[in-house]
Amino acid sequence: MIKVLDSFVADKIAAGEVIERPVSAVKELIENSIDAGAGSIIVEIRKGGKSYIRVTDDGCGISYDESETAFLRHATSKISGITDLDNIVSLGFRGEALASISAVSRLTMVTRRAEDVSGVKLVLHGGRVVSKERTGCNTGTTVIVEDLFYNTPARRKFMKTDAREASSIIELIQQYAVCYSGIRFMMINNGMTLFSTSGDGDAHAVISLLYPSVAKNGLIPVSSDIVTGFVSDPGSTMSTRKGQLFFVNGRLVSSAVIEKGLEEGYQGRVFSGFPAAVLFIEAEPSDIDVNIHPGKLEIRFLRQDEIRSGIAEAVSRAVMTGAGIPKGFVKNIESAPEKQLNVDVPKREDTEQTSIKVFLKRLDDQSSRELPEAGTAPETAAVSEVAEEAVTDYIPLSSPVKGTAPVPAPVPAPAPVPAAAPFDFADLTYKGYIFNTYIIMQGNDEVYIFDQHAAHERVFYEKFMRGYNNSAHSPQPVLTAFTISVSNDVYSISGEWLGDLVRMGYDIEDFGDCTFIVRGIPPYMSIDEAEGFARGYAEAVGENGGVNRIVVDKLITKSCKSAVKAHDVLSEHEITDLMSQLAECDNPYSCPHGRPTFIRISSYDIERSFRRK
Ligand code: ADP
Ligand code: MG
Repeated sequence: MIKVLDSFVADKIAAGEVIERPVSAVKELIENSIDAGAGSIIVEIRKGGKSYIRVTDDGCGISYDESETAFLRHATSKISGITDLDNIVSLGFRGEALASISAVSRLTMVTRRAEDVSGVKLVLHGGRVVSKERTGCNTGTTVIVEDLFYNTPARRKFMKTDAREASSIIELIQQYAVCYSGIRFMMINNGMTLFSTSGDGDAHAVISLLYPSVAKNGLIPVSSDIVTGFVSDPGSTMSTRKGQLFFVNGRLVSSAVIEKGLEEGYQGRVFSGFPAAVLFIEAEPSDIDVNIHPGKLEIRFLRQDEIRSGIAEAVSRAVMTGAGIPKGFVKNIESAPEKQLNVDVPKREDTEQTSIKVFLKRLDDQSSRELPEAGTAPETAAVSEVAEEAVTDYIPLSSPVKGTAPVPAPVPAPAPVPAAAPFDFADLTYKGYIFNTYIIMQGNDEVYIFDQHAAHERVFYEKFMRGYNNSAHSPQPVLTAFTISVSNDVYSISGEWLGDLVRMGYDIEDFGDCTFIVRGIPPYMSIDEAEGFARGYAEAVGENGGVNRIVVDKLITKSCKSAVKAHDVLSEHEITDLMSQLAECDNPYSCPHGRPTFIRISSYDIERSFRRK
């Protein structure tokens, strides 16, 4: 039942203009369609939505009697009392959208419920009903908005060009199509159908269709009780956040809390740019505040830390698997076909040695003779088909089930996806060592190339961190004691840092004259490592006036780099050793600076490069 909210409840709802641009009208209309349990939504616009917007759904429809009430301010079937505000499950709840849109346009609504024999066509100009008649029509609702802002010239001025307005609307529909993959969306712009989704609930397929750049390197499924969705591997990033879509209880939101959780989930493995991520978050309606902005885009989580760490944990579980290993070669494979076209297809007659003049002459003759009747396709055409990028890591996300209940329809919850299998180093066999740097290992159906230095840095880093965090180590004596010299200022505050080194397992003593003598080192370090670290540590205290966790982390990261010497040739024994140490790391996938420790090339990629697939 559509009722007008009493003024007490109405005042509690954040006030503000809902309709600023055509895209805000479209958003409200499709949210109404979703709330109405639609299985199919068609959006048609002309001139960026300024002259014409049509949203047609096959949802529950509105009865003849209630069709006018729907246009009253604060008329809604979705909430009735103040307690409902804490438990909002439908998208719309303010009861303002139809009133606001109709006030600034010429609006036509055609609607019918399944149980009614006829529907109703209602026309409003500037919010006033100009006609209302019974009509035959399909079940569901069509709203046509023409000449938006025709009676408010001031607002008309704020609209952007037709193309810009259209692009905002198209982007919006794409986002909703991803989130509600169980609903069929069709987008028509200036008479042209831009896209149409299947509505079969396969979110991954919708992402691939509408965001090919996000999906091109494959997406890794994420799944936990609070979040499901897909993320890219840490190497496949975009330069902006455009590839990041977050939905909370079926609403597209922007949220720093979610961004932070996502970033944490990658555990420093993103070297540059922003990973792609489509995340569906489920939160108790009472744990979020969706009412802080009339646009409803920004939401507030009442338990921010839980959401952040929950997302971080789920994302990290997804990317800390075999699927999260950056793929090698992918870019080269894409560009390979053209290159080969030019080199591989010599013209049969031209292979013998000829002078340039004779060659050109012959070409001339040939073209004048052959071209008119040339019925055969050029040889190059056959080679130009390139297989689409394979999405091997794809596990379909089952659809949010479309609501069938009368208004308000329940907000659909995406079904959980099975998590990707963890990466198992035991499956790898050693195949070779190239450029004195890269280790080749073979898995079941793919080749892995390890960067010896990055792997070393990772192993070193975790060894150090573990050593640093576990207190009280007894020093391991060194054969020849060594000294380290520090600057005067650092020497004068040795009380602040000497104890830390002792606790880490250094046998270190003041040797006078800004020097310290080291007779024993932590058991988990080599002499070189120990020397570099102690010196760096002392200096860091001087520079920062205190050593905190971040400084220690930086320091260890830095000394990792210096500890791994370039082009150190490894023996096979050392390689095996390095592999087993890496396998034991908490994060074997990247060095402390975020570069990958290894990449993957699937047999499929290789075969495709050779044109076998
Ligand atoms: P709200 O969505 O906040 O309730 P609106 O002004 O958007 O407010 O819509 C008012 C009411 O009209 C809704 O509560 C709903 O009952 C009805 N309504 C609007 N659009 C549709 C639709 N596409 N299908 C069925 N009912 C609709
Ligand atoms: Mg609404």
